[in-house]
Amino acid sequence: MSSLNNAIEWIESSRDDMTQFMLEMLKIKAVNPAGGGKGEYERAMFMKKRLEEAGLNVTQHDVPDTRVAEGVRVNLTTLLEGEERGRTLWMAAHLDTVPEGSREFWATDPYVPVVKEGKIFGRGAEDNGQAICSTLFALKALKKMGAKPKMNLGVVYVSDEESGSKYGVIPLLEKGLFKPTDLALVPDAGTPDGSQIEIAEKSILWLKITTKGKQVHGSTPEKGLNARRAAMKFALQLDDTLHSKYLAMDSLFDPPASTFEPTKCDANVDNVNTVPGLDVQYFDCRVLPQYPLKEVMKEIESVKLRVEKETGATIQIDPMQSEENTNPTPTQSPIVEKLKTALKQLRGLEAKPIGIGGGTVGAYFRRKGIDTAVWSTIDDLAHQPNEYCKIENMVHDAKVFAYIATT
Ligand SMILES: [Zn+2]
Repeated sequence: MSSLNNAIEWIESSRDDMTQFMLEMLKIKAVNPAGGGKGEYERAMFMKKRLEEAGLNVTQHDVPDTRVAEGVRVNLTTLLEGEERGRTLWMAAHLDTVPEGSREFWATDPYVPVVKEGKIFGRGAEDNGQAICSTLFALKALKKMGAKPKMNLGVVYVSDEESGSKYGVIPLLEKGLFKPTDLALVPDAGTPDGSQIEIAEKSILWLKITTKGKQVHGSTPEKGLNARRAAMKFALQLDDTLHSKYLAMDSLFDPPASTFEPTKCDANVDNVNTVPGLDVQYFDCRVLPQYPLKEVMKEIESVKLRVEKETGATIQIDPMQSEENTNPTPTQSPIVEKLKTALKQLRGLEAKPIGIGGGTVGAYFRRKGIDTAVWSTIDDLAHQPNEYCKIENMVHDAKVFAYIATT
């Protein structure tokens, strides 16, 4: 226990070094290349050097991408051997950022990071710079103080999180780098007091629904087939069916039920006196993990057939996004228990496992059967202008990481 205490003290005394590290890293613009951004590679090389300087082993995992000048996207892993060598606790942070958006909303240059009132301002400071810094200093502290992790402690710095992870965590998972018995912590979402541990996501299903009828003059509807009316019937019947069929409640989530919302409609005809022959509408469905999306889609298909028969229109359903999240991490998983204990011991907090509506890389780990918690202490400034990271949070999260690695 005393080497852990030493590590925690060392982290506290490294406050200025951590801040300095952030100022240097955030200067390296690392906007995701999907929108033409540059610098993710350079930031990866910076991190590689920092890990090596700390005496940590580094493995570079290149994923080919012809869109970038370097020809590859870089992911880095480093490992501290634990008492139990067959299993690894992985901490994952991402190197890339989103663009700065409109400059006029920024009080300071997003790529010239500054410290003001205990906060570091700059694009990527919170998302996901804080996690990079906290995990790096947790690793350094354990190594310096000779605090051996319980299981191996692995840290992975990934590319491409902001644009679907196809060059980041997904190929690493496909390569079998992480084992189903491993644990994962993703410090890429959180709350200002760190009291929520995200362990599950609803599945996401976005549908584009195209209804075809026959366009005619508004005064002679009998000669055509009103696609709008058929589409409205479909929307209402679908809404009723899904809400009456998928009734389960899970108090882990807020809201506790699955949600099925008719959202966008594309514009149809330009004038009031034309019966539309085409209607395009959308549904945003967030489904509790207990319902496989295949089953939900089958139900949707049966409503489609019924309404087609009833109206004579043809209805086409295209899933625009279909993210299955059927593997929630159990509330009693060791990764959750470790975090709860650390937060109790270090902050006097009673942290609570929660589920969210969907959208973190935690989902990819869980799909491989890896127990995963998404946790950090942040004010939730991701993707916003004047994004910042509180130095206090950065230091204290590093202590939590050191704690959970060694207990
Ligand atoms: Zn992020």
